[in-house]
Amino acid sequence: MGDITCKFGGTSLADASCFRDVIAIVKANPKRRFIVPSAPGKRTPQDRKITDLLYAWHRIAADGLDASEPAHIISDRFAELARDLGVSFDIERHLKEIAEQVTQHATPDYMASRGEYLNGRLMAEVLQATFVDPADCIKFTAGGELDPVTYDLLGQRLEGPGLFVIPGFYGSLPNGEIKTFSRGGSDISGAIVARAARSALYENWTDVSGFRMTDPRIVPEAKRIEEITYQELRELSYMGATVLHDEAIYPVHELKIPINILNTKSPESPGTLIVGERKSKNPVCGIAGRAGFSMINIEKALMNKERGFGLRVLTVLDEFGIGWEHMPTGIDTMSIIIRDEELGTSGDKLVGEIKKFCNPDEISLTPALAMIATVGQGMSHHVGVAARLCAAVAEAGINLRVIDQGSSEMNIIVGVEEQDLQPAVRAIYKAFENWD
Ligand code: ASP
Repeated sequence: MGDITCKFGGTSLADASCFRDVIAIVKANPKRRFIVPSAPGKRTPQDRKITDLLYAWHRIAADGLDASEPAHIISDRFAELARDLGVSFDIERHLKEIAEQVTQHATPDYMASRGEYLNGRLMAEVLQATFVDPADCIKFTAGGELDPVTYDLLGQRLEGPGLFVIPGFYGSLPNGEIKTFSRGGSDISGAIVARAARSALYENWTDVSGFRMTDPRIVPEAKRIEEITYQELRELSYMGATVLHDEAIYPVHELKIPINILNTKSPESPGTLIVGERKSKNPVCGIAGRAGFSMINIEKALMNKERGFGLRVLTVLDEFGIGWEHMPTGIDTMSIIIRDEELGTSGDKLVGEIKKFCNPDEISLTPALAMIATVGQGMSHHVGVAARLCAAVAEAGINLRVIDQGSSEMNIIVGVEEQDLQPAVRAIYKAFENWD
C-alpha cells in the first residue's frame, strides 16, 4: 500500500552503467519496492537485444544447426554485466539449463522469456531482493488470456517487507508452459504487478522523459505532455505513439493507479503522468498521425433506404479476412478506411467483389492516405475545436480528404494525402500548442 512499482525497459538495463543508474533510482526512494526488469536491450544502434538473440538461438536450434554464436554472445553479455556490477552470477549454469531445454524442444516463448528471467535473477542479486518467478504466479488461460487469478497469486507472493524483483514479459499457461506477452510486454507485467501489489504508483522507466504532444521528428519543439488520461493515451498509441505497450493500461485502469513515464538518464525530469482525469485546460492533449491507409469510396442512390447494404459491404470484407479502421458515411455514400498492411494486394479484387455483391452506382479505391488523430478528452465540452483544426489545415494549403469524429468525442480523425502528413501534423500542433 502506498508503494511504487517500477518497470525498467531494456535500454535502461543495457550495460553496467545503466544498471547502476537504475540501482540509484531504486535506492533513492524506499517506496520503490516492486521492480520489474526487461531483458538487456541495445547498447548502440548496431547492437542486438538479448530477446532477439534468444529468438535467433531458438530458430537456429530448431533447424538443427549450431546455435553456439547467439549462446556465446548472451553468455558474454551477462558475464560482463555481473563482473562490472561486482556480483557473483553463475551464467554458465543458467545457460546450460536453457541449452538442455532447447534440445528438448523448448518453445520460442520459453526461450524469449529467459532474457527477463536472467536479468531478473541478476537484478535480485544486485539489489539483495526477493526474486519472484512469474511462471508461478502470472497465469494465462488455455486460450492465452490473462487469468484474473493472477492478481491474488501474485499479490500473496509480494507480501512482506523489502524489495521484490519480478521479471517482465512472461507468465505460464495452465499446463505450466511458459507464455510471453507480445513484444514490449514487460510494460504489461509492470501494470499487473502494480495492481497485484496495490501500488500507489506505477513508474515506467524508459529512455525518454514522457510523451510529447506530437512526434518530435515532425515537430522538434513539441511540448511534453504533463498529464494524459488512460483513454487519451489509448487513442494516441493506436495511431502509433508507442512509448508504452497499449495493453499496459488495462490492469491499472480499474484501480486508477497512475502511470508515470520517466527517463532513467534524467530521473529528476517529471515525465508524463497517465491518470484517470487530468487537470489541464487544453481540450487537446496530443496529435498522432501515420501514413499507409487506403479508402474505398462507395456511392449508391438511396443507400439509406436499402436495408442491409452496409452489412453486405462488410460481409465482403469479412470474407477477404480484412479488418477496417474507420467508416465515415454520407447520405448516399460510405467510405471504408483500411490499413495498407491489412489490405495487402487485394484492393482491386475487393472492389470487384463489392461491385458484384452490393451493386453500387460508383466505387473507387483511393490509395496513399495518411490519418491524423487529434486527441483530447475535453473536446466534447469545447466549442470550436473542429473549427480550429480545419482552419489550421486549410491555412497550410492542405486538402482534407476525410473528417471523422467518433461518438466519444475524444478524437477527431482527419485523412490527408500521404505527402501532406507532416505539414498537416505541424499545422494542427501549432493550433493546439496553447489553448487560451
Ligand atoms: N524483452 C521483450 C522485448 O524485447 C519484452 C520487453 O522488453 O518488454 O520485446
